[in-house]
Amino acid sequence: MPTAEIITIGTELLLGETVDTNTRYIARTLRDAGVDLYRASTVGDNHERIAQIICEGANRAEIIITTGGLGPTVDDPTREAIALALGVETEFRPALWEQIQDRFNRYGLTPPENNKRQAYVPKGALAIENKVGTAPAFVCETDRYVVIALPGVPREMEFLMRRKVIPYLRERFELKDLIKTRLIHTSGVGESAIDARIGDLEEMSNPTVGMAAHAGQVDIRITAKAQSEAEADTLIDEVEAQLHERLGRWIYGADEDTLEGVVLKSMAEKGWRLAAVESNLSGRLLRRLAGGKGEIFAGGEILSPPPSVDDLKQAVKNTCQAHQADVCMGVLLVPGETQQTMHLVIQMLAEEHQTTRTYGGPPQMAPLWTVNLSLDFLRKLITEANLPQ
Ligand code: ATP
Repeated sequence: MPTAEIITIGTELLLGETVDTNTRYIARTLRDAGVDLYRASTVGDNHERIAQIICEGANRAEIIITTGGLGPTVDDPTREAIALALGVETEFRPALWEQIQDRFNRYGLTPPENNKRQAYVPKGALAIENKVGTAPAFVCETDRYVVIALPGVPREMEFLMRRKVIPYLRERFELKDLIKTRLIHTSGVGESAIDARIGDLEEMSNPTVGMAAHAGQVDIRITAKAQSEAEADTLIDEVEAQLHERLGRWIYGADEDTLEGVVLKSMAEKGWRLAAVESNLSGRLLRRLAGGKGEIFAGGEILSPPPSVDDLKQAVKNTCQAHQADVCMGVLLVPGETQQTMHLVIQMLAEEHQTTRTYGGPPQMAPLWTVNLSLDFLRKLITEANLPQ
């Protein structure tokens, strides 16, 4: 499997003025094409430093992809920097200049003379026509590695990556492997409890299994490398089955599934309608429920100032009636010095359920944790008729 490095170029990236989204896109695209990414770095608009980082990368990887610095001004250093790294001059390509002129002419304009800079590429480079912008991209091949220079504008970079770079890499490196991932979502359980049950799976090499903890939920990523989609799916299915066996009801879904989506779907299956009240959550719970499809979520209220638990229970009863809902959930978050407390009241048909939980993590994450946990409790209550202890 070939290895790659990404170099994003632009002083504005180092100053924090532009967020580097190009690395993420290229990293994912390479991953899906079966290319191993070794390193990603960002460098300012400086010839020598760019050339140096390219030379370093060339010692480790066979594919170096740069983005940015291909514009028409003297500040756009990538063409010269790559030439410097490869020890060649830049050369003028009349065909590229014609393409740039054509593009301007289509809008009834004549390109300024400094756009001519964009028609220069390092000697021997293969030019890549850029149909969605003016900056032509290019590939420089050596016997050990290739350097691919793409524009910085995300839309242009993405288009060229998909249409030109991946087909080129597939052919040049005879890429056969592809990489597929599936995310399994769990809720209501901590990372260490999951780790204790699936530690052996986390040591496998294909598929690999890794965890990412968020407030109130933990995701498990299964990544398989294979020669076809079907083969990758089979590898992933086997691990997913193991996860279901070991983690059971902690798992609520996969990939695009959300807790609120799963809750609303199981309510729809029962023909029920849901209402909700919340306090100290800045509308987060209501917004997530309202974002779901269909008529299952009947509506709700934000309670302010925060009520007592008894008042929360009363508000749940009233809201259930007002919206003619079968289920109403009430969630109150009470801040504290060292920990925050969640009070959850759920009225399901005629029965009232209540629970309290405390949270000791970063205070700014407490509302998200509260919403995730309360939705998870409702999810379990619908299927098991009892709140988890
Ligand atoms: P152009 O000829 O269109 O100027 P370019 O290759 O010279 O293309 P830059 O001038 O470096 O690209 O960047 C153009 C714009 O693209 C930047 O102002 C920024 O908004 C965006 N951009 C550049 N690099 C990145 C990046 N790594 N992630 C996200 N956006 C980026």
